[in-house]
Amino acid sequence: MPPPDFTSPLTFKTFNTIPSTAASPPPSSETYYLLAEIKENLSLTRPTLICSDLSSTSFALTWSDLHASPHASDVDFKALGLKKGNCVLLPNARRTDSSDEVKQGKVVIPGGKDEWQGKSGLRVIPGKLEKVVEVGQDWEFVIEEGEGKCGNCGKEGREEELAKCTGCRGVGYCSKECQVKGWTEGGHKSTCKIIKTFKEIWP
Ligand SMILES: [Zn+2]
Ligand SMILES: [Zn+2]
Repeated sequence: MPPPDFTSPLTFKTFNTIPSTAASPPPSSETYYLLAEIKENLSLTRPTLICSDLSSTSFALTWSDLHASPHASDVDFKALGLKKGNCVLLPNARRTDSSDEVKQGKVVIPGGKDEWQGKSGLRVIPGKLEKVVEVGQDWEFVIEEGEGKCGNCGKEGREEELAKCTGCRGVGYCSKECQVKGWTEGGHKSTCKIIKTFKEIWP
């Protein structure tokens, strides 16, 4: 299953276009996603991450039933990769508007220590928003058209002749030299983990 259409605003929504918790649930069962980059960890008593979405709208991502470090760290930010510069992907997220105009709107993740991940479906994509969108929009080129072609010089070769990148197993190279160039000059260094994560989320 390839990733969903990254150019569709109906599939990749923003904080302001996802339904509010104050409204009744949308009738459609179609999955949509809220994709945002983590900008800051503002956890005090509750785990709280400030995120910026596709329209650069900032919102807080918080956990209703969990506590933040140092009291009791129920969310292992480090182990999950929930850090500045990575992205969060939230399927069918709903926004909680703030009654106070000064305060920021938020997305609240419910559930206790062992339930929240399953309940929310939250996934971390290790990379900046710009890169994540780039990989999503170029997916066919990255994977399908990339098969049978060197990911650096474009030289055609049989699949088995190309050495697959051991990180993502998504891109192949005709030579060691091309692999090194693809990693540095070609920018695969910043997209390898994103490609790997995409393949896990949408196998
Ligand atoms: Zn090559
Ligand atoms: Zn790779």
